[in-house]
Amino acid sequence: MEELRELYQQAILDHYKSPRNFGKPESYDKEAEGNNPLCGDRVSVYVTVEDNVITDVHFTGSGCAISTASASLMTETIKGKTLAEAEDIFGKFQELLTSERDAVPGSKLEVFAGVREFPARVKCAALAWHALRAALKEKKQVVTTE
Ligand code: ZN
Repeated sequence: MEELRELYQQAILDHYKSPRNFGKPESYDKEAEGNNPLCGDRVSVYVTVEDNVITDVHFTGSGCAISTASASLMTETIKGKTLAEAEDIFGKFQELLTSERDAVPGSKLEVFAGVREFPARVKCAALAWHALRAALKEKKQVVTTE
């Protein structure tokens, strides 16, 4: 169990140090910004959707290791998924963060299961997902975890 925990932390650090799909793309359909004042995390998500499929997703922002790694893993996880699949994964990820679930099939999101032991960090891990959801619903306002 300790070894597993170590591995999870390494995956989170890897995504924090080299975030995937980081940077504002030249073109995109939807965007939203997420704000977690509790920790100081900020993330903007840029999404391209074609025929109900998320064909591209990027993010920018700055925050703690958990929020950055979560945004990075989110982009890897949802690229190529349909809107319905992304919504389903979002729901399962929320469950994972609150201990009802240990894995999200077809993703590497279980690396965040340890976050549930630190309730304040759950908001860090969920921030990019809330921003994604807002972007997909084309809400223009900034979302906040508060
Ligand atoms: Zn944070």
